[in-house]
Amino acid sequence: MLCGASANQMPRLVFLDIDTQIDFMLPSGKLYLEESRHIFGNLHRLLEYALLNQILILQTADTHTEDDPEFAAYGFPAHCVAGTEGWRRVPETYLIPDLILSSGGEWVQPSGRERVILIEKPSFSITSNPNALRLVEALRPCHFVAFGVATEGCVRRSILSLRSLNFEVSVVIDAVAPGRIKRGEQTLEEFASLGVRPLLTEDIDSGKLLAEDHLNRISFR
Ligand SMILES: [Zn+2]
Repeated sequence: MLCGASANQMPRLVFLDIDTQIDFMLPSGKLYLEESRHIFGNLHRLLEYALLNQILILQTADTHTEDDPEFAAYGFPAHCVAGTEGWRRVPETYLIPDLILSSGGEWVQPSGRERVILIEKPSFSITSNPNALRLVEALRPCHFVAFGVATEGCVRRSILSLRSLNFEVSVVIDAVAPGRIKRGEQTLEEFASLGVRPLLTEDIDSGKLLAEDHLNRISFR
């Protein structure tokens, strides 16, 4: 039994695709992560699997203003500025969202029929968007299967936030990419120490995950 679940309320699976945007993943991007070149195929396989199996997909998008103070604060070049080409997702992960939760916008109650929800986030963690925090609370109990970029950046901060909220989380280790390989490896060790389960894309493709954790119900309390 996964923690937080009662006998008749097993957690539903939710796939969490973190920041797989052009500015991070293509050589033309403003903050290109070279290691991301290895994960395109697996990202596509994971999303295809989720769509075929009616698993809810949350996609986060790093979303900045033109002169966002984060750029100077962390020494980043301007990246993922809302509405620019670099803000968009790469073709392998581009899906038309059923619902968009913007950071400064009003809360929109999900209908429960959504397959893909896009979450704009102003900073590293998914929960830096207050509407996203409200969404994940509404999804309880659920088990997040996380992947995307960068391992030691937004993937790490989002997973840490979800674990601190007591959510079950798995990470697909061959569908995440670091900025720096060593830091990425350290982050995967940190995840293991936090009870985040490592998975391979193959585990999911083969149906192992659904067999173990099953539910993919999409309903909101
Ligand atoms: Zn950013």
